This record gives sequence, structure tokens and C-alpha cells, in this order.
Amino acid sequence: MGARVIDGRPIAGELKKRVASEVEGLAARGVRPGLATVLVGEDYAARAYERRVGGLAAELGCRYVCERLPREAEEADVLAVVGKLNADPRVSGILVLRPLPGHISEPAVFSALDPLKDIEAVHPVNAGLLALGRPRYVPSTPAACFYLLDRYLERSGRPPEEFYPRSTVVVVGRSNNVGKPAVSLGFARGAAVISCDANAYRAGRLREHTLKADALIVAAGVAGLIDESYVREGVIAVDVGINPVADPGGSGRTLLVGDLDFGSVARKAEALTPVPGGVGPITDVWLLKNTVAAGRGLAFRAQSGGERGAPGISGGYGGQ
Ligand code: NAD
Repeated sequence: MGARVIDGRPIAGELKKRVASEVEGLAARGVRPGLATVLVGEDYAARAYERRVGGLAAELGCRYVCERLPREAEEADVLAVVGKLNADPRVSGILVLRPLPGHISEPAVFSALDPLKDIEAVHPVNAGLLALGRPRYVPSTPAACFYLLDRYLERSGRPPEEFYPRSTVVVVGRSNNVGKPAVSLGFARGAAVISCDANAYRAGRLREHTLKADALIVAAGVAGLIDESYVREGVIAVDVGINPVADPGGSGRTLLVGDLDFGSVARKAEALTPVPGGVGPITDVWLLKNTVAAGRGLAFRAQSGGERGAPGISGGYGGQ
């Protein structure tokens, strides 16, 4: 296995330092960004994510508001919480955790978010701006995929601006929060982009698409979906999937694995990301980066009595 394993933790660590210094800069101007999470029900992965970003907000000196509703909450209850957070000047960024229970409409809840506080770009206006290549916020998971890819390319002596225009990026999974925005970020870098979902798999045609990838991003949520027969020699593979599986060693513990069959893909890949420890840590920090950008934008607007809705406050670090 000659592939390089791209460790996301040091990359996340560097990003965190930059976010921390932004928070300090804002504190000196009397501005304290605030993150709010909204969790409906008890989903295990959502709870874990809530805990992580709440802890990170505290560590970075941001405010943190944790809103929890029971699974049987009505849509109106969730909308009321969103309305309250929209109106709260101490909250700059709102994350509504998925999955929402089936009786609650995700589009209705996402459309109720103040677009300026919609740090995951799930409001139709923000999703549209991203699709047009003018993002207000770049959603954290696809941003993390490309941030990691870009840093890896730079460190291996290939400027991203030269790599992507000559390359094919294949994105497996087409959700609104990961797969579709990842496609937009691939376009923004000038790559040829192929997007495929479960339909391609069912039609028996997924492999013919993934075999074209110079860079492969897999976000299907199917443990071990992609083995070496799906990738070409020298691919750079980014694994977004987080799948709980029973420990095959029989310990009775639950382990988290990705969508790549890691050992098998590593036989052909130039580089690949592990699960856990790849995309995930960067995703967490990126969410706070967006929270801080939102805090800065809201404070600036409050000071200048300024325009609402101007795109482009997501800040740089080469991640868009
Ligand atoms: P989702 O269920 O909303 O969407 C899954 C997508 O994958 C769909 O488009 C579906 O058609 C496609 N798909 C399913 N089976 C497939 C198959 N056999 N072949 C090809 N495509 C297939 O999921 P999501 O929210 O996009 O998340 C995907 C995975 O990423 C999950 O495992 C989730 O836990 C994980 N995730 C990780 C992070 C992170 O930071 N690492 C963040 C968000 C989600």
C-alpha cells in the first residue's frame, strides 16, 4: 500500500489558529460571534456533531446557544425557534442539524433561516449564490473536502489552479448539503465535474463514472461502497462518509467507517483520506469559520446601517 494518507487533523489545526486569530481581532472591536445549533430528536451522529461544534465554539471564545426539541415537536415549534434565533443579535450563525424528523419539512425550515445567519448555505438564496459561483457562505463539508484537496495539492508541488482545469473531479452522492455544493466548488475551480448518485449505482454504471476521476469525492453514506475496482491508478480520494458498523473483531463496539474500502483503494490511489480523521475535523472548524464571518458581517452592517444580502462575506483562505 503505497498511497499517502491525508491526515485532516493538522490541516484543521492550522485553520483553527486562523479562525482563533480572527475571533481575537473581532473581540478587540467588541464583537463576539455566536453559533446556535438546532437539534430535533436524538439522532446519534447529529448529537455527536452538536457536541463537537459546541465545544469548538467555546474553545474559540464564541457564544454558543444549544436548542433541542423533542422528536415529536411540530414544524411550527421548529420555525418558532428559528425565528427566535434570527432575531437574537447575539447569534450570528445558525446550524439546523439533519436529519429532521420526517413530519417536518426541511425546505420550510431552511427557507425560514435569516440568509445572513445561514452558515451552511441551505437557504435557497444562499444555495443559489453558491451555484452561481458567488457564495455568501461555503457549506462546511464540501468546503472541507476542497480545502483538504487544495492543501494536499500545494504540499505535493501541484498548484490547485493548474491541477483542476486539467482534471476530472467525480462526486458520488448528490445531497443538497454535500454532493451538490461539492459540484459547484469543483466548477469554481475549473475542473470537469461528474456528479452521480444512487441511480447510477442501481443502473450498474457508477464504476464507469468513478473510473474517470483524478480526484474522487465520495459522500454516499454506504460503508465500503468504493473499492479498488472503482478507481484508477493515482486517484486522490476524499471520503466523506461516516457509517457506524459493528466491530468485526467482535468487541461489541460500534466503529465508524467511510464509504471507501480503505485498504483496497489504497492499493491504487496516490492519496486518500481516513475516516475518522480526514474531512470531519476540517468540517467542524469550517463551521466556526463561517460563524465568525457571519459575526463580522452582521457587526459591520449594524455599524454602517448597511445593506443586507450582499454576498461575499464568507472570507478567504482559498476555500471557495
Ligand atoms: P444523504 O443521505 O442526504 O445523501 C446521500 C447521497 O448519496 C444521495 O444523493 C444518494 O443518491 C447517494 N447514494 C446513496 N447510495 C449510493 C450508491 N450506492 N451509489 C451512489 N450514490 C449513492 O447523505 P449526506 O448528508 O450527503 O451524507 C453522506 C455521508 O456523508 C453520510 O455518511 C454522512 O454521515 C456523511 N457526512 C459526513 C460529514 C463530515 O463532515 N465528514 C458531513 C456530512 C455528512
